[in-house]
Formats: sequence, structure tokens, C-alpha cells
Amino acid sequence: MGNLGEDDTVFKGEFVIGEQTCIISISIIMPKIIQKIVDQIIAHARREAPDECCGLLAGDKGGLQTAPTITEIYEIKNLPADDPRIAELKIAESRTVRYMMDPKEQIQAMRNMRERNLTMLGIYHSHPHSPAFPSATDVRLAFYPEVFYLIISLEQTAPDLRGFFIIDPKITEAKIEIVQC
Ligand SMILES: [Zn+2]
Repeated sequence: MGNLGEDDTVFKGEFVIGEQTCIISISIIMPKIIQKIVDQIIAHARREAPDECCGLLAGDKGGLQTAPTITEIYEIKNLPADDPRIAELKIAESRTVRYMMDPKEQIQAMRNMRERNLTMLGIYHSHPHSPAFPSATDVRLAFYPEVFYLIISLEQTAPDLRGFFIIDPKITEAKIEIVQC
């Protein structure tokens, strides 16, 4: 993994600040992910199917010249249809077509990351019956522009795992580099 280049630009836009127009581009080094975590994401997705599964991914944030590496997984409960937050957010009731992480479990996971000096690097969820591409709801509820959104599709026999940066409304596919350890 080398220096940042044009390939790593995930967002480029023009902004008017006062009387000046500025072009802002954001570049992020794509994270690596260890094979064991990929296997666990696939197993979680299969266990929860036909519902979507979800969780957080963490690891070392890397440096200027080194890529962040995802080494830890936190499986989080996908809130059931009768949870009041589902109606508040105006999202589909059924867990077969959406995910919403249980906030209590999410906070616990984030606390555990802090205690272990880990950085939250990604959010994953599954698409049991659709391709590995963010849905309109996924984009609307992508609250963390700095993290990597990983989607595992079980639509075909072989699971399809893809990564994205989502800076609403822009979706940029990120290369996933899987490493052994
Ligand atoms: Zn989705």
C-alpha cells in the first residue's frame, strides 16, 4: 500500500464558502481485512438468513503509509420489526430487507474498541436476496462517512463481498484486500 493517489479519491465536490469556490477532495486508504473475519461475516450472514445480519468491524487504523487493517468483528443484533425506532426512522419493518443495529449492543461494542485501543473501521450487513450494493435506505442511514461499508450478498451460491465508502449521496466502491493474518 503506497501513497494516496487519484484512485483513492472517494469524494470530490465544489463548495462555495463566502465568495470563494473551493474544490474539496477526500482520499482514504482502503483497509485490509483478515481472512478469518471474512469467514465470520459469511457465517453470520448464513446463520441469520433470510434476515439481514449486521455488525461492526475494527482494527488498527494504520498510518500515513500503511493501510488500516480489520482484525476484529462485533456481531450486532438487527432490531426487530416491533422496535419503536424502526417506525421513527421510517424504514421497512422486515429484517429481510433492512438492518438497524441494536443501539445498546452498538455502544457496548464501541466501548470495547476504546478499551482495547481499536478503531472502528467498518460496518457490515448482509443482502440475503439482492446484490452486494447499497440500497437507498443504506445510503440514507450511512451515518459514518469515515468508515468502510461492507455488504455480503447471498443472492448467488458463492457469497459476494463488496466494500463501499458512502458519503451521502455518493457511493464509491472500495477494493477489498484480504490478507491471511
Ligand atoms: Zn443493505
